[in-house]
Amino acid sequence: MINLAKIDMKQTTYTGIAASPGIAIGEVRLLDRRRISVQEHEIDATQVEEEIRIFLEAVDRSREQLEKVQEGLVRQSKTEHFYIIDTQLLILNDKMLIDSTTELIRTELINAAGALKRVLHRFVTVFEQIEDEYLRERGSDVELVGERIIRNISGMEQSQVGELERRSVIVAHDLSPADTCQLDAEHVVAFVTDLGGRTSHTAILARSMEIPAVVGLEKITRQVPDNTPVIVDGNSGVLVCNPDKETLKKYLEFKRRYEFYKKQLRSYCELPAVTADGKLISMQANIEFQIEVDIALNNGAQGIGLLRTEFMYMARSKPPAEEEQFQSYKKAAEQFSPYPVTIRTLDIGGDKFVSDICLDDEANPAMGMRSIRLSLWEKNLFHIQLRAILRASAFGNVRLMFPMISGLAEVRSCKKIVAQVMEELVAEGVNFDRNIEVGIMVETPSAVFVADILASEVDFFSIGTNDLIQYCLAVDRGNEHVAYLYEPFHPAILRALKHIADSADAAGIELCVCGEMAAEPMFSIVLVALGYTQLSMSSQGISRVKKLIRQWNTAHSDELLDSLMEQKTAADVLRVLKLKLAQYLPQADPDLDY
Ligand code: PEP
Ligand code: MG
Repeated sequence: MINLAKIDMKQTTYTGIAASPGIAIGEVRLLDRRRISVQEHEIDATQVEEEIRIFLEAVDRSREQLEKVQEGLVRQSKTEHFYIIDTQLLILNDKMLIDSTTELIRTELINAAGALKRVLHRFVTVFEQIEDEYLRERGSDVELVGERIIRNISGMEQSQVGELERRSVIVAHDLSPADTCQLDAEHVVAFVTDLGGRTSHTAILARSMEIPAVVGLEKITRQVPDNTPVIVDGNSGVLVCNPDKETLKKYLEFKRRYEFYKKQLRSYCELPAVTADGKLISMQANIEFQIEVDIALNNGAQGIGLLRTEFMYMARSKPPAEEEQFQSYKKAAEQFSPYPVTIRTLDIGGDKFVSDICLDDEANPAMGMRSIRLSLWEKNLFHIQLRAILRASAFGNVRLMFPMISGLAEVRSCKKIVAQVMEELVAEGVNFDRNIEVGIMVETPSAVFVADILASEVDFFSIGTNDLIQYCLAVDRGNEHVAYLYEPFHPAILRALKHIADSADAAGIELCVCGEMAAEPMFSIVLVALGYTQLSMSSQGISRVKKLIRQWNTAHSDELLDSLMEQKTAADVLRVLKLKLAQYLPQADPDLDY
């Protein structure tokens, strides 16, 4: 328990980004991970080889350190965190990082640390421009690797998380994944960082370790001293330092209530998502990394509704080879068998940038050479990925999905290439599932309008509401200035979802939603009412949605939809939805928060 005798300092509250839910009370353990300042200076031509040697030795030492961390993880059986260190090792081995730094030392005549800093700056700028929040934040891995090399260049100790006392709140500039994995979860009650967003590694790991976290507090490492008593509210992104007695009492009550709520939700992981009148909904998970397979299984996911394959192509100099992709897809298929694993082909291009797949600058990247258009253009890349996916289909229930389809011709082109790859595999005597289900993401307005035509050509639809809203409402999903127009409850979106559902129903094909909307508690009920039978979302959202679905009776669906479809604005839809759900699901509060 917090030492009240220590609470004589003034209470201060800081607000950051709520990265992992829960409330923790403890004492600050400051982790010295502040950026080390790097001085760039000129060198003499005679010093070039020596600076390059210093740089390469620091890279080697960094590699040894990371491999040691991996060995430690094996000893502690924490192999599920392996991929994080793997990502850093990949960055460390990146030819571009090494070559560009040595080149700069040689051509610009600057010291090793200065040259590396310039290269890192270029890398990080590229990452910052990525639209996808998850991928964008992989830029922090580049920074962490860079920081490690710089520390080795300057002969500084890598900061380690030492022996921790109970109830430690780790406060760091940015928590290295290597440190995070080594932390003794028993003693760490929360994470707080200067940097990071909702999908930074600290946030992901905190969520998977179920440790509350607040990130993006900018300079908190300089604002709170070691041993400060604090309250971390990961639900609202608040950090209270030196809480007074009143505040402490209030948060102890919040904590008790939240833990009771979470305990209740946990019991839903094992239960089927079946409505009160017996309609079964398949709850699936969206994943990007191998680590998330276990998290998805633990949260009761009955399949992967969306495996985003983009990450495998990022932060590396060459696209992943067929074998590497195959092994990764196969593993997920085996772990989930007999449940489905829906592998989406590469969804990059536009502003999701991958260094070696070069595209000319485009005036309008969101509508440019991206996603399936890029796969149909760069046929070799597509071919390799299809071979890997088809080969993996022999090891489980794999489904193949194409993103950003805008019309029938594209679907036919994709299917033609799939048929060619299948013939090739047959000729080579390679096993695969000849009846593999092939589906499309419905996320463009044209796909909505011709949903009836597309439905006759595929085995399933999966609705990418993140992009569907962006394209239907002409609102850039990443532009904060027009964020107020990004309205999931807009009548146009409701109508689009209804038209898609009716088209799928008429053709008798499967219907899934894998956009963020599926995890919005209130909207999940609307989706079920509309006839969507598969909902795919990030794993942590599953039990909350499941709990609601189990209370819902589909006998109310028509009446609910009739009243929603009459509404003329998003605000009206939301207001009526709240009223109706309060009437039909009187005991659902606080599950309905939007
Ligand atoms: C979507 O667009 O809703 C979707 C699930 O895909 P992404 O977020 O990867 O574009
Ligand atoms: Mg999309």
